[in-house]
Amino acid sequence: MSYLKFKADHLFTGKEMLDENGVLIMDNDGFFENIIPVTEAGENVQQLRGIISPAFINCHCHLELSHLKGLIPEKTGLVDFVFKVVTQRHFEEALIFEAIEKSEKEMIDNGIIAVGDICNNTHSFFQKQKGNIAYYNFIEVSGWLPAIAQTRFEKSKLHYDHFYQLSPANNQLSMAPHAPYSVSDELWKLIQPFFYKKTTTIHNQETPFEDEFFESGKGDFLRMYSLMNIDNSFFEPTGKSSLQSYLPKLNDAKNVLFVHNTFSKKQDLEFVKNEWNKKDVVAFFCLCPNANLYIENALPPIELLIREHSNIVLGTDSLASNHRLSILDEIKTIVKNFPTIPLPEILKWATINGAKALQMDNVLGSFEAGKKPGVVLIEHINGDSITPQSSVRKIT
Ligand SMILES: [Zn+2]
Repeated sequence: MSYLKFKADHLFTGKEMLDENGVLIMDNDGFFENIIPVTEAGENVQQLRGIISPAFINCHCHLELSHLKGLIPEKTGLVDFVFKVVTQRHFEEALIFEAIEKSEKEMIDNGIIAVGDICNNTHSFFQKQKGNIAYYNFIEVSGWLPAIAQTRFEKSKLHYDHFYQLSPANNQLSMAPHAPYSVSDELWKLIQPFFYKKTTTIHNQETPFEDEFFESGKGDFLRMYSLMNIDNSFFEPTGKSSLQSYLPKLNDAKNVLFVHNTFSKKQDLEFVKNEWNKKDVVAFFCLCPNANLYIENALPPIELLIREHSNIVLGTDSLASNHRLSILDEIKTIVKNFPTIPLPEILKWATINGAKALQMDNVLGSFEAGKKPGVVLIEHINGDSITPQSSVRKIT
C-alpha cells in the first residue's frame, strides 16, 4: 500500500486545529491512516499553503430548485419568497436536470462530500444515483388543510418509495415536515412513522411572523394563506412560540435538524434542552446565513446558540435563495458578521457536526481511524483567518 502525505500551515482534524508540524497521511483509497510529526514523516510530503480540513458537510440543500438561480428577488421576506417558489412551475425537465447536475458539480468543487437534501419530487434521483456525493434524502411533506393530509401523504410516500431504491438499507432516507405552518396535525401523524429513530428536519423560525402566527393567530402568514387560497379558519393559536408548539411531535426521531432558526429565542433553545434531556433525540441547529440574508435580510442568533451549547451545523439552502452552493461562503459570512467566533469552532460545524447530524460520522467529518472523509485545502488565508478571498479545493 502506498500513501499520500500532506502538510500545510494548519491542519484541522474535524475536532481541533493543529499547526504546521502535523503531517496527514491518507492511503491511496482515500482512507485516513495517521497524523504524525513532520520529523517522522519521511519523504514525499506534499507541502501546501493554507488549512487542510476534512471535506465539508452541507446539511441543508434543495438540489431540485437549482434551476431557480437568480429568479427570485432578494430581501422580500419569507411569505413572498415562498409564494414565488411555489408558483414557479413552468420549467422543462431537461433544464431542471441540467441545473441539478451543474449544482452537484459546484458542491463537489467547493469541497462538499455529503448533503442533507430536501425532495418534493424525484427530479434529483437520476443525479444521486451516480453516487458522486453522499446524500441523506429528506422527503418533504406539506399540506396545511387537514382535509388534504391523506392525499399529500400518499404523494410523498411514492417519492419515498422511489428514493428508497438509493438506500435500501433505509438509513439515509426519511420523511420531513416542511415547516410548522405548512403541516397539519393530521399530516404530522401520517409521517411520524417515516422518521422514527431517524434523522429528520424542519424549516424553523425563519421569519418573526412564524411565532406571531402560533402565539396569536395573526400576522403576515394570514396574507400567505390568502394568497394561496387556503382557508385557515380551522387553526387555533397555541399561545406558545412555533418551536414550542410543535416540538413534541418530533419526540420519536433520532436526530432533528432545525433549519434557519433566524428568530429562535433563548426560551426556545432551553425548551428543546429541557424536553429532550431525558429522551434519545438529539437537536442540531442548521445555519444557512446567506439564504437568511437573501430572503429576510437577517442573520440567526449564532452567539446565543453557542452560549446555549447547541449542536450547530451548516447548510447552503438552494440556489433559489443563494448565489452559490458553498459551505466556505457560509463560513465567510459568519466570520464577517461574528468575528470573535474561533475558526476551529466554525470548521467543526462544517465537518464533524454535520456528519453526526446526517448519521454519516462513521465515515465522514474527521481524520480518524476507519474514515474516508475526503481532504480539502482552504487557500488564501491570512495567518489563521479566513478572508473574503479564501477559496477551497478538493485534494482527495
Ligand atoms: Zn430550505
